[in-house]
Amino acid sequence: MINFTRPNASKAALLVLKTTTIAAAIAFCSINAGFAADANFSPANPFFAPSTLPFQAPPFDKIKSEDFEPAIEAGMAQQQDEIQRIADNHDAPSFENTIVAMEKSGQLLRRVTAVFSGITGANTNDILQKVRTVEAPKLAAHRDFIFLNTKLFGRVDAIYKQRATLTLDAESLRLVEQYHDDFIHAGANLSQADKNELRKLNEELSSLSTAFSNKLLAATKAGAYVTANRATLEGLSDARIAAAAQAAKARQVEGFVLPLQNTTQQPDLASLSDRSTRQEIFEHSWSRAERGDANDTRDTIARIAQLRAQKAKLLGYSSFAAWKLEDQMAKTPEAALEFMDAIVPAATAKAAREAKDIQDLIDSQKGGFQLQPWDWDYYAERVRKAQYDLDDAQVKPYFELDNVLQNGVFYAANQLYGLTFKERHDIPVYQPDVRVFEVFDANGHHLALFYCDYFKRDNKNGGAWMSEFVGQSRLLGTSPIVYNVANFSKPAEGEPALISFTDVITMFHEFGHALHGMFSDCDYPTLSGTSIARDFVEFPSQFNEHWALYPSIFAHYAQHYKTGAPMPQELAARIRKAETFNKGYDMTELLAAAELDMQWHFLPPQAPPQNPDEFEKQALEKKHLSIGYLPPRYRSTYFSHIWQSGYSAGYYAYLWTQMLADDAFQWFVEHGELTRANGDRFRNMVLSKGNTEDLARMYEEWRGAPPNTKAMLKYRGLEESTPK
Ligand SMILES: [Zn+2]
Repeated sequence: MINFTRPNASKAALLVLKTTTIAAAIAFCSINAGFAADANFSPANPFFAPSTLPFQAPPFDKIKSEDFEPAIEAGMAQQQDEIQRIADNHDAPSFENTIVAMEKSGQLLRRVTAVFSGITGANTNDILQKVRTVEAPKLAAHRDFIFLNTKLFGRVDAIYKQRATLTLDAESLRLVEQYHDDFIHAGANLSQADKNELRKLNEELSSLSTAFSNKLLAATKAGAYVTANRATLEGLSDARIAAAAQAAKARQVEGFVLPLQNTTQQPDLASLSDRSTRQEIFEHSWSRAERGDANDTRDTIARIAQLRAQKAKLLGYSSFAAWKLEDQMAKTPEAALEFMDAIVPAATAKAAREAKDIQDLIDSQKGGFQLQPWDWDYYAERVRKAQYDLDDAQVKPYFELDNVLQNGVFYAANQLYGLTFKERHDIPVYQPDVRVFEVFDANGHHLALFYCDYFKRDNKNGGAWMSEFVGQSRLLGTSPIVYNVANFSKPAEGEPALISFTDVITMFHEFGHALHGMFSDCDYPTLSGTSIARDFVEFPSQFNEHWALYPSIFAHYAQHYKTGAPMPQELAARIRKAETFNKGYDMTELLAAAELDMQWHFLPPQAPPQNPDEFEKQALEKKHLSIGYLPPRYRSTYFSHIWQSGYSAGYYAYLWTQMLADDAFQWFVEHGELTRANGDRFRNMVLSKGNTEDLARMYEEWRGAPPNTKAMLKYRGLEESTPK
């Protein structure tokens, strides 16, 4: 997952924005509600002026929770002034006095919201949650103030119409087109009555997203499995049980606590041998947000879906999905659906073969039951062991977190792009687990700062993501400060952090996003770095996953944490072979979630609020994805990507970008694999370009052909569809 916002993304509502961009700041922008700068906002506020720390790193040693609200309020007021001055300018509209001026506006707001978004996601507290609830609708309104400003749109439109006669370079031209699209997309050419209606919809949607987020955080916390009976945890490692005891201590309860992860399946289900414990944990996960209590999200999501459909209609689209996909690489929901529908048979056929292997194992052990979702991971792990003689306990000692980071993730970036890394202990962090590295280019020059925050906490959102505290822009003279956040189990005091190979892949994935942010070489903040279509943004991250298993890189980090011995060849070979294991399940649970997302956002504007359970059931049945033993990766009621994080009608992008990532890796395979020349070519033609060119054309120019699903099906073991 990545934090990423375009001006038209509903994510603005959530305060999870891509703050490097003005667009993002704009996304977080202003309004009519009288943003008089707060009297509490003074030079004593750490956001008052740009940070004086190296590279404008956020002064976390000075920032207090109470500093955000006055700074956000003042930031909106300041940008509102700046925007109004641009709109009221008596000079004829020019690229400089309108477009560039907008790119330069909102610097305070950008500064504070970047940090606010980072902290509320990774290290929140009651004060911050409250500020978010208060500010989210104001920020949505602020954005409307800009994109629904008739005078401002008049200037942008005039520049857009003269663009052929202006002597603009390609990036500037793209910026003009981008702004124009964003205004149109936001409803700038609507009647005044419709604009008012849109404002109301946006504010309610923003509040609902925040409500969803707060409910889900509480529901997930409440859904933890708590037991005083250690016997129910049989199968978990001693380290895991110690961590569960520590989690209980942190919550001041007796016994053991297994916190819920944000996905349907829970990692501990792969180890827990007590079937009733597994079932209980699964059911906690499955029904976490529909218990009829204050944390039940059903009414909230039904209302969000309904309002989104109404918003799309107001903007002249047949569905929210049609509105959302217009500026994506896929362009239409139909193209995305066609792509997904075509993969369903291969994915579900592979999943059915995997299910048969599992049922065979259950039967051979005289289990006497039919495979259920809470059995899948447990038996899959046994099938994996039987077929590949590979289990996590055997593998994890070779993946010590810091070693994977420095000798794996960083090393791959060194081999491909020449980067080097140096840990900085002098730069303040927001929580003691966070680490900071300075990143140097091949020529030894400073490139970026990289923060990583890998351990799970109760006050952190689930999943893993990347975003930025500062984005790259030549216009603003800023170099990137990017961060990766994950939710790896924190080891007990004094124990090494041994992670699974899945976690290793997550690190490579998030670092792929980080590279996309760090390599950005663009003039304008709106177009820089990861500020890009969703069905492209997951491409660099998934592409980077491929290097985790690349022989010379794997050998460099997969070493025993105690002895430093390299992973034995045959164990490494088994990991490699196991890579296509369970891919039918993985692909199908992803497809099911993506189909749910798309169908929620295909609702016609006149549709009444849906019953989420009924809707979900029918949506999956329609696409042949209602499979008893194979639940969607996220259920509607806890699908935070689509209700809170801006992936609405965009979850298909994970699959679409898998296609791009695998197809791109295939290019490396065909051109000499891991070389600095290949890395630099990819960096120069793709990773450094942000959103400064048409994405389909950019890809094709680098690849020499449009992408196709061939490599995707091959790398994921889905190409042979004949049952064994
Ligand atoms: Zn991602």
